[in-house]
Amino acid sequence: MTPVDVDIDRGAADRPIGEAPDTPPGFAAATAFLECVHCGLCHSACPTYLELGTEADSPRGRIHLMSALQAGTLALDAAAVRHLDLCLGCRGCETACPSGVRYGSLIEAARPWIEAHHRRPLATRFRRRLALAVLPHPSRLRRALAPLRLLERFGVLAAVRRLRSRLPARWRYRLSLLPEPLPQPATVPVATPPRGAERAHVQLLVGCVMPELFADTVRSTLEVLTRNGCWVTAPAGQGCCGALALHAGDRAAATRFARANVDAFEPPSAERTAAPPLVMNAAGCGATMKEYGHLLADDPAYAARAARLAARVEDATELLARLPLIVPRGGLPPCRIAYHDPCHLAHAQGVRRQPRMLLAAIDGVTLVAMADEDLCCGSAGHYNVMHPDLAERLVARKVEAIRASGADVVATANAGCALQLEAGLRAAGLAVRVRHVLDLLADAYRAAE
Ligand code: SF4
Ligand code: SF4
Repeated sequence: MTPVDVDIDRGAADRPIGEAPDTPPGFAAATAFLECVHCGLCHSACPTYLELGTEADSPRGRIHLMSALQAGTLALDAAAVRHLDLCLGCRGCETACPSGVRYGSLIEAARPWIEAHHRRPLATRFRRRLALAVLPHPSRLRRALAPLRLLERFGVLAAVRRLRSRLPARWRYRLSLLPEPLPQPATVPVATPPRGAERAHVQLLVGCVMPELFADTVRSTLEVLTRNGCWVTAPAGQGCCGALALHAGDRAAATRFARANVDAFEPPSAERTAAPPLVMNAAGCGATMKEYGHLLADDPAYAARAARLAARVEDATELLARLPLIVPRGGLPPCRIAYHDPCHLAHAQGVRRQPRMLLAAIDGVTLVAMADEDLCCGSAGHYNVMHPDLAERLVARKVEAIRASGADVVATANAGCALQLEAGLRAAGLAVRVRHVLDLLADAYRAAE
């Protein structure tokens, strides 16, 4: 195992480990760290530990580190920040932990504290701010993508892609994270009637990145929901769920997004008792919105409303399995499908069975097992953009598991994972297609026509 060359915060005001920091301690209850009994049973579920082999990049090591930062016995220096930055927030360790340590809450509390007390190098700050200024805002993202769409139209992007192998490694990888081709943005009507008899009313979170970079999956989502008898409303005023900001330690921005969504999705008071499910097709959004009650707990004007909204949140695969699914009359050409569990669906929401049930219902599909199905692929929000070196190594591990499974399609239920897996498969020259579960269902419905 070799240490990875990632964004080490050189230039930050380093202090030797052990020297008391000049920052105030206190981002979590000290007792929260005591739940960890240091057994190490979570190590084999931690992608960064498996890849780097260093204790400080394991869940136990990070808990130890956060505990020392919390107690004020460890300096908040570049090395400490790097180990915490490299955590994917995948929460695989939570699933593996027999003591019920809530690692996700600890790292989520540590991140804003780090941002408040640690000055990153200029280039890192610029990259982080740029990502947060653009990605969660669909109109800004559309403007940022416009020149690329133009370059693609005139064949320039295709030419650059052909020269991919000559680019420096991290730029080659970042380029491969752009969908090929760039889709035309999707627009979702405020209300879409069901096809056939009405079975349910649902609200849809359209999301921020989804309609711009994963437009086909947005269209598939709408199609599959309406084919399953759903009246789909996509209230105006909704926006990013706040996950990107939260994972980057910008809790203030995350709460702003959360409040806007609470306002947008709250039905008129007369209809609140029968408020519809709020569904989405991105695992990170679902995981974040299910935690809105916690995120806005200190806001008297929003706490109760946020908790009510959180109770209505369901991943689209959960809803469809519950309805239950109207089995597509068409099907797919015979194919062997391996399913990759998105971390924020499997570990954060405990949703594993439903996507597999939906896939198994499609005629022509044979589900095949894959090693480490719920091990993070390295996508993790914008982790793969911020830490391309390690993200590329993580997806290479995943690609080997896909190769060994003998699958010809990899299905997942999170577009970010799909993009990351596609990049990895392309780099490995493996002709395995990657599809969102909802895209595969939409294909099967369309085949009947
Ligand atoms: S959240 Fe994921 S990357 Fe972070 S410590 Fe836990 S298992 Fe490792
Ligand atoms: S987080 Fe859980 S599994 Fe990991 S060392 Fe602590 S108690 Fe053991």
